[in-house]
Amino acid sequence: NRPVVAVVGRPNVGKSTLFNKLAGKRISIVEDTPGVTRDRIFTEVEWLDRYFTLIDTGGIEPDNGDIILSQMRNQAMLAMDMAHVILFVVDGKSGLTAADREVAQLLRKTKKPVILVVNKIDSQSQFDNVYDFYELGLGMPFGISSANSMGLGDLLDEVISYF
Ligand code: GDP
Ligand code: MG
Repeated sequence: NRPVVAVVGRPNVGKSTLFNKLAGKRISIVEDTPGVTRDRIFTEVEWLDRYFTLIDTGGIEPDNGDIILSQMRNQAMLAMDMAHVILFVVDGKSGLTAADREVAQLLRKTKKPVILVVNKIDSQSQFDNVYDFYELGLGMPFGISSANSMGLGDLLDEVISYF
C-alpha cells in the first residue's frame, strides 16, 4: 500500500503537465500515440527509492465560475479524504485568484500535509511571484516550472519527507 499524493488546483494551472512530468517516460510515450487517451489519473512515481501513487484530480471543464468552484471544493475534499500528501497547484504567471483563496481555506482545515506549488515559474526573473502566495497560509510555496522541469527535485524531496 503506497502513500497517495493528490494534485489539486484550478483549471489550467498545470496540474496535468506536472503529473505527466512526474510520471516519467512511460506516460510521455502514451501521450505521443495518436488516439490514446491523454488523461491518465493514477500513476506510480519513484523518487530516491521511495514509491508513491500520484493522482491527478483534474477533469474539471472550464465552464462557468460557480461550477468550477464547486468542483474544486469536491476535488479538495476528496483529496483530503484519500491522500497522504496534497499538492495544491497555483499559477505563478496569472497570480492569486478568488478560487485559489477558497480552496486554500478548505485545505487549511486538514491535518494532512499540504504542499503549495507555484507552477509556471519558468525563469529566475519570475521567482519573486512565488512570495505572493504566502498569504494563502499554507506555508512556504515551492516555485516550479513543470514545462521546463525546474524545481521538481526539491518538490519531490519535500513530498517523500512526509512518508
Ligand atoms: P491543468 O488544467 O491544471 O491540468 O493544466 P495543464 O497541465 O493542462 O496545463 C494548462 C496550460 O498551462 C497548458 O497550456 C500547459 O502547456 C501550460 N503549462 C503547464 N505548466 C507550465 C509551466 O511550467 N510553464 C508554462 N509557461 N506553462 C505551463
Ligand atoms: Mg488537467
